[in-house]
Amino acid sequence: MGLRQVAIYGKGGIGKSTTTQNLTAGLAEAGKKIMVVGCDPKADSTRLLLGKLSQKTVLDTLRETGEEVELDNILREGFLGIKCVESGGPEPGVGCAGRGIITSIGLLEQLGAYTDDLDYVFYDVLGDVVCGGFAMPIREGKAKEIYIVASGEMMALYAANNISKGIAKYAKTSSVRLGGIICNSRNVDREIDLLRAFSKELNTQLIHFIPRDNVVQRAEINRKTVIEYNPKANQAKEYRQLAKAIDENEKFTIPTPMTQERLEEILIEYGLIESIEGDYRI
Ligand code: ADP
Ligand code: MG
Repeated sequence: MGLRQVAIYGKGGIGKSTTTQNLTAGLAEAGKKIMVVGCDPKADSTRLLLGKLSQKTVLDTLRETGEEVELDNILREGFLGIKCVESGGPEPGVGCAGRGIITSIGLLEQLGAYTDDLDYVFYDVLGDVVCGGFAMPIREGKAKEIYIVASGEMMALYAANNISKGIAKYAKTSSVRLGGIICNSRNVDREIDLLRAFSKELNTQLIHFIPRDNVVQRAEINRKTVIEYNPKANQAKEYRQLAKAIDENEKFTIPTPMTQERLEEILIEYGLIESIEGDYRI
């Protein structure tokens, strides 16, 4: 199988970077060659893989070095040789937040970062919607495979549905497909059932359910993935299972986003919001 380019989307704070780094650590343990491209202006997509090494963003490097940039300036190897890049972004409120992604992908291509030995490139992309610069990895035909990180919380599901709308739009004219929903648990009641129902409605699968576990924080304090920090922990096994599920995945679909009404029906069914037809209404 050739190079697989995968984009991880989901609302801010949902756990994209944590999940991406742990799952790529799991893939690297299984012998895969990987590059991770951080596409969030926060530039913290590769911190756990790089540990103590600090990584300058592509945009900052360009600002300081001008056009004389070399691959070594923007790409650093972290845990088990995973190649790490951070796009960076403009200062908050200045210019298009997705600008760094466009620049980075172009520069990585130009500098020959997409080598033949790579099995995977992962793009860790911020966004409640797929628009502007944040659509870059899929708009330019780079990432053909998308996973959305969500949880059983209302806003995470709204965001996942909106992201699906974007994917469905690009899927009409390209081969981009949704590979599944990753549930990063928030310990909500009936969360796994809710996420299964939600995924089914979107014409996709719940590819894995990641429990919430404080070992993630303990590893993070040490700037490590759980896989590196405590390879025997149950949480490390969960991330390896996710890695395996993605590696073996064959279910790629065009999502069928829900109307606001249908999404709210599901949220009501699972008790996330109350029905507006209740007796308490005046
Ligand atoms: P995003 O990249 O989507 O903005 P992060 O990966 O930075 O989100 O995660 C936000 C915070 O949530 C992190 O500080 C991380 O420690 C915590 N977190 C993520 N996943 C888990 C988990 N499964 N269990 C416990 N904490 C988690
Ligand atoms: Mg992040």
